[in-house]
Amino acid sequence: MKADILTIFPGFFQGPLDHGITRRACEMGLAKIEVHDLRQFTHDKHRTVDDRPFGGGEGMVLKPDPIFECLETLQVASREDRVGGRVKESVILLSAQGQRFTQSVAAELAGLDRVVLICGRYEGVDERVADFIADRELSIGDYVLSGGELAAAVIIEAVTRLLPGAVGNEASTQQESFTAHSQKEAGGADSTCGSGGLLDYPHYTRPAEFRGLAVPEVLLNGDHQEIRRWRRQRALEKTLRNRPDLLDGVELNKEDAKLLARIKASGVRGAENSD
Ligand code: SAH
Repeated sequence: MKADILTIFPGFFQGPLDHGITRRACEMGLAKIEVHDLRQFTHDKHRTVDDRPFGGGEGMVLKPDPIFECLETLQVASREDRVGGRVKESVILLSAQGQRFTQSVAAELAGLDRVVLICGRYEGVDERVADFIADRELSIGDYVLSGGELAAAVIIEAVTRLLPGAVGNEASTQQESFTAHSQKEAGGADSTCGSGGLLDYPHYTRPAEFRGLAVPEVLLNGDHQEIRRWRRQRALEKTLRNRPDLLDGVELNKEDAKLLARIKASGVRGAENSD
């Protein structure tokens, strides 16, 4: 997958994308990330990328012309073809006003050949970018950052780890928090408790006892069925406690429903019902 980042702070990306799986994905040729400096697409002495808002008001706004010009040099397919699904390319504007970036959007983007990420700054980006060149606006959460750079790095990290081959053990990315698809096939304990849209179950490693804190006994006894049930129960408990909203979006099987009823009866309650 090719990712192009349009930014006024190209140096920002030295670091965040140079580690771990993202770096490995680039080294393996699975991902190619290019950062483009919007100031190179200005034509005045001061390389101006922002200006005052029409209509008055606070702050400055990123000008449309450097962004349009930069995009034109990238030879992405036409907006019609992108939006019509005729090419696997997407131009995305990072924006607090965008649709929420989630694990399923990450999976969708991982299926594309190319994403272009436009990072805003200041009060935001001239709306003609959203209206005429971006295919969609994405927000990484309900808070306001000072720029789209961190958001772009978050998206690239979440997406590259889903590219086939990027993570050594591919099954592991299918079992994590929020991942709707779970591996139901029989196998060891690990392959039977994908999150299925819930939060992940708790993980432990050696030592089995540390400063008097013991790992749950069930994980040490080698009974895969029991381990699977325990993990599912803990995933349900944590989801109920921290993110009860996720429970509305998952299909619980009979065993899950029973476990959940038992958890609720034992007094673990969702944050929103915790009065
Ligand atoms: N005035 C805007 C905030 C501008 S913040 C508002 O109230 O909505 C400046 C830039 O930071 C934005 O253009 C966007 O690119 C980026 N940004 C801020 N919060 C973001 C978020 N939650 N997700 C993605 N990008 C964000």
